[in-house]
Amino acid sequence: MPIYSYTCHSCGRSFDLSQAYDDEPVRDCPYCKAKGSVKKVYGDVPVIFHGSGYYCTDHPHEGGCASCPHKD
Ligand SMILES: [Zn+2]
Repeated sequence: MPIYSYTCHSCGRSFDLSQAYDDEPVRDCPYCKAKGSVKKVYGDVPVIFHGSGYYCTDHPHEGGCASCPHKD
């Protein structure tokens, strides 16, 4: 079964759940019990910053290429 990532917007905790594709999405936080505060996080567009810079062609950003660590 696929594993889905959820984040609670009330307490800020994240957790993963293994669910069938057609299972009901989780809405209530298992940690702080807040109702309807849990949102599914879609992992198909990960935003990963490795700390060594990024390419402005891949990640357009404010300031343009003048502030990009990789100007090539
Ligand atoms: Zn919570």
